[in-house]
Amino acid sequence: MDKQVIDHRGPEFQRLGRAVLEGCRALFKTAGPVVIYPSSGTGAWEAAIVNTLSPGDRVLMVETGHFATLWRKMAGRWGLEVDFIPGDWRRGADPAAVEAKLVEDRSHAIKAVMIVHNETSTGVTSRIGEIRKAMDAAAHPALLLVDTISSLGSADYRHDEWGVDVTVSCSQKGLMLPPGLGFTAISDKALAASKTNKMPRSYWDWDDMLKPNANGFFPYTPATNLLYGLQEALTMLLEEGLDRVFARHQRLAAATRTAVRGWGLEILCEEPAEYSPVLTAVLMPPGHDADQFRKVVLDNFNMSLGAGLAKLAGKIFRIGHLGECNELVLMAALTGVEMGLAAAGVPHRAGGVTAAMRELEARDMTNSPSLRVVAS
Ligand code: PLP
Repeated sequence: MDKQVIDHRGPEFQRLGRAVLEGCRALFKTAGPVVIYPSSGTGAWEAAIVNTLSPGDRVLMVETGHFATLWRKMAGRWGLEVDFIPGDWRRGADPAAVEAKLVEDRSHAIKAVMIVHNETSTGVTSRIGEIRKAMDAAAHPALLLVDTISSLGSADYRHDEWGVDVTVSCSQKGLMLPPGLGFTAISDKALAASKTNKMPRSYWDWDDMLKPNANGFFPYTPATNLLYGLQEALTMLLEEGLDRVFARHQRLAAATRTAVRGWGLEILCEEPAEYSPVLTAVLMPPGHDADQFRKVVLDNFNMSLGAGLAKLAGKIFRIGHLGECNELVLMAALTGVEMGLAAAGVPHRAGGVTAAMRELEARDMTNSPSLRVVAS
């Protein structure tokens, strides 16, 4: 990314623009367009709403955690009427509950189902393929809008196969980039909705973007240096192979859970089918403050663990194993946690790290290219 900024109306940029716009399709697993904004993920949330829906539309959302709650708040600000299925932040979106709501909605007043794929606040991954099946079983025409902000590039995701209409994502998680790029992958049905919906918009307008994108260009100044990084991130992910990338994160997640159980601590996610390959949230024993523990780890080992957000503040800490993470990086992180638990006087059993190592040894690690990079 530390390269000269080039003329974004010139042929060199056009090659870059074409390469990243095309490469994103492979990552989202779509034959349709992917729009890239200079924005954070929140901007892409807004783009999904304003391009497809109209003020007063009913939408169905599920309270999976902090980020689903924030997206709901945004939907309300845009004048959408949100039916929010309550949740306890320990499980993903329940396909049966979504189906029941859609079956109830005989007049098809619900215009969109909006789900966060990987709840970064809880370490729970919702089963989007099963949500799609629930929508089909209800024979409901609502659009499916999915936030893959923390899952894209780390967890299995299939925009076309799962019939997703808008997939929202951004650069700073599985794509291993700094913040600053927001994405929306768009189905034909979402594009058709954008032709008639009534939300006001300008900066986020898909039509304005898609016209110049067809030739590799952008309607306004693109984040050129981040696009250089995106090109490299796509190359790295596709070189390793998405299936192998996803298997690596599953392996790292399994080892992390083994460590947590070894310490005698509790994993926040209650549904094994929804364990996140991206991060693991760990409940603190009663009477112990997670933020105090995180401070001890930061002060002693210069390692930042994820904080509990909103109602989970002080109650959990989060271990990230997304993006450019490999076996050795994970083992260092788990060691920092185990040493931190001892240093902070948090009751636990020793040996979680050793158990995690055994878990990794039992799995095939030979296909971990990033491990080879670290070792060379
Ligand atoms: N959705 C999820 C699942 C997230 O994890 C985040 C940020 O961490 C957001 C939305 C908001 O994205 P941003 O902070 O890039 O605006």
